[in-house]
Amino acid sequence: MNFSYSKKVIDLQERIQSFMEEYIYPNEHLFEQQLNEQETRWSHVPPIIEELKEKARSTGLWNLFLPNSEYGAGLTNVEYAPLCEIMGRSLIAPEVFNCNAPDTGNMEVLERYGTEEQKQQWLKPLLAGEIRSCFSMTEPEVASADATNICSTIEKDGNDYIINGRKWWSSGAGDPRCKMAIVMGKSNPDSPKHEQQSMIIVPLGTPGVKIERMLPVFGYDHAPHGHAEITFDSVRVPASNMILGEGKGFAIAQGRLGPGRIHHCMRLIGAAERALELLCKRVQDREAFGKTLSQQGVIKEWIADSRIEIEQARLLTLKAAYMMDTVGNKEAKSEIAIIKVVAPKMALQVLDRAIQAFGGAGVSDDFPLAAQWANARTLRIADGPDEVHRAQIAKLELKRHKNTFAQEGK
Ligand SMILES: Cc1cc2nc3c(=O)[nH]c(=O)nc-3n(C[C@H](O)[C@H](O)[C@H](O)COP(=O)(O)OP(=O)(O)OC[C@H]3O[C@@H](n4cnc5c(N)ncnc54)[C@H](O)[C@@H]3O)c2cc1C
Repeated sequence: MNFSYSKKVIDLQERIQSFMEEYIYPNEHLFEQQLNEQETRWSHVPPIIEELKEKARSTGLWNLFLPNSEYGAGLTNVEYAPLCEIMGRSLIAPEVFNCNAPDTGNMEVLERYGTEEQKQQWLKPLLAGEIRSCFSMTEPEVASADATNICSTIEKDGNDYIINGRKWWSSGAGDPRCKMAIVMGKSNPDSPKHEQQSMIIVPLGTPGVKIERMLPVFGYDHAPHGHAEITFDSVRVPASNMILGEGKGFAIAQGRLGPGRIHHCMRLIGAAERALELLCKRVQDREAFGKTLSQQGVIKEWIADSRIEIEQARLLTLKAAYMMDTVGNKEAKSEIAIIKVVAPKMALQVLDRAIQAFGGAGVSDDFPLAAQWANARTLRIADGPDEVHRAQIAKLELKRHKNTFAQEGK
């Protein structure tokens, strides 16, 4: 693996870094202020977001994800990693570059598996940043870490499908621009276990779709994006909304979640870098008990450990990206599972140290640390809990050494 970035990537890195300095960091508080000035935090998208999207788009900093596709910027996963990392430094940045979850994952699904009609109707406006989307798989009634449990139904009725079920944690559904959901449900209950589920496109305005409530994350509402509990009550959509075919839900989920997971890890590295940077600046400014905080041995240890852990996580993430580029997402599943365990844990540790070094300020909204910590904590659960990824890593490891000593006669 080559550790140096190409000229194209270095150029993009510099341009994104400048964009962050000039437009993103100075507008983080304005975003919250505009959100609070509205009738409700869900009624409109803060105007600053659309203004910044326009700037990013016009300078070509747009749709940088989507490897090997005519629609994206033509970057590989390894090339995208350092760029996505910079975007992760701010919670408002990914959308500005049209590189935010869950839209990126949904765009990848439509790009890879969608029909021409589905691409025209949904992929095009998503790529243009005109609409938003959500992904509705998780259900309150069942342990959704095991996706074979998903029990919403998708039943054929003439030229339509009828959908019934209750979903929650559909991220992005609170956004007034969110126009469609990719819904996972059971269409073929008699098929083999991994061929019972399908994914289907449901326009959010369809009769029978109801947003029941928005779920907070440690008190953060993440408006206007948010996380919704949604009921689907006899929702009728045309059969042409089915993605790839009945029973293909699991296959699509495997394809969708790989890139989505690594993008989260890339962003978490950026969040940790920013936290470490803030920590270092703060501890050199403030004095306690006759010396600066940076002169305390324990704080030097926090800084050193944070640097070590960030570098380890970055190298593992780049390795996973490299494997995805060279042998494919499926073959890279062990590496993807490894970073999905490592990156949130690392980011939480670094953020926690930064919060501690900031004292009371660390848990306030004056700095991005508390909000970033809350976000990072969800990523030990979302897109597969740690334990499920560990089980996957162990399964592959055991398979690799499947001959026991007894079998070898030792
Ligand atoms: C902020 C946030 C955003 C999300 N966004 C989306 C979204 O956009 N769309 C969507 O569909 N879902 C989304 N999710 C849901 C998320 O993917 C699920 O919460 C996750 O898959 C776990 O499912 P569950 O909540 O049903 O937990 P369960 O399946 O009930 O699991 C609970 C716990 O059981 C343990 N466990 C599970 N399996 C094993 C195992 N094999 N070994 C040992 N322990 C195990 C783990 O500790 C796990 O955390 C989001 C969640 C959060 C918090």
